[in-house]
Amino acid sequence: MTRDFCNLNRAEVLELVADMGQPAFRAQQLLGWVYGRQQLDIDSFTNVSKDFRAQLKQVIHMPRYKIVSVQQSQLDETRKILLELEDGQRVETVLIPINSKLSQCLSTQVGCRMGCTFCATASMGLRRNLTNSEVLAQIFAARELVAPHQYITNFIFMGMGEPLDNYEHTVRSIRTITDPEMMGYSHRHVTISTCGLVKGIERLAKEDLPCNLAISLHGVNDEQRSAIMPINRSGGIAALMGALRRFPLSSKKVITIEYLLIAGHNDSLEDARNLVKLLRGMRCKVNLIIYNSHEHADFSPTTRERALQFQRILAEKKIMTFIRKSAGADIDAACGQLAAAAKD
Ligand code: SF4
Repeated sequence: MTRDFCNLNRAEVLELVADMGQPAFRAQQLLGWVYGRQQLDIDSFTNVSKDFRAQLKQVIHMPRYKIVSVQQSQLDETRKILLELEDGQRVETVLIPINSKLSQCLSTQVGCRMGCTFCATASMGLRRNLTNSEVLAQIFAARELVAPHQYITNFIFMGMGEPLDNYEHTVRSIRTITDPEMMGYSHRHVTISTCGLVKGIERLAKEDLPCNLAISLHGVNDEQRSAIMPINRSGGIAALMGALRRFPLSSKKVITIEYLLIAGHNDSLEDARNLVKLLRGMRCKVNLIIYNSHEHADFSPTTRERALQFQRILAEKKIMTFIRKSAGADIDAACGQLAAAAKD
């Protein structure tokens, strides 16, 4: 059985090449073809001998995926890509242009078991974790679609699934994205967004992985948060805030607090004041997201006016607060909407 090349880290590629009796520079050549030039066809590796290519095919294969569909938003330039994996499972990834940047929202699981009641992915339950290679396959697929002059600038682990519930593969894929001899992105351009798995956050704090951290908070007290995010029932907001306050941040970094504004649930002005209290002294910024309606949940979006009032209360207390524009809402590509198309 062959191994999936993109499940290997740099050390493992070096080991593979050494086991094949080849010099170490062959590893650099392979990494250059796959991650530098995005070539997934071993026969196109023209600077290695035909014999070595034949040998390689005996021991490795490249990620196997198929682009099933690409939906383009009519509201903005957002594109949602539906991928089919080797076993027929499907995942979605989203390309979001913002000004001169192009961000890609990556999935880490087929479905999710966290059960957030506002989220379409939750309705699938957890089918399985994605491998490191399947996370990277989403990037290869997106690169097939972007114009030659375009470049994906940022990666956000905020697609289907909870990244810290698939910890090993999430971290491995980030190491590939940020390894200078693999994809070579700066950690500053990678964000892990979690619903708040405290143990996962604490484990991440001990890794040498200085990427950005975003937390889906969506509530200012346990009753409010647990009602829409079952994960909150283990430990509650106090444990989560404790883990965030202990999380190591380099000098210019802040934690991003994602706060979904749901009409009548967590969008009162009292909620805004309580959020100020909760975040007091924390190095953070807040993204307010107006809830995106979808068929899997019975909530309503807050009004723009209320979002502005909410923002004002936080800003008055010097908390950096943005009302985040939801990209691709018309193609179910916005926050909490992924999954419907992948389900059939
Ligand atoms: S919001 Fe995130 S963690 Fe919660 S169910 Fe959806 S995908 Fe899972």
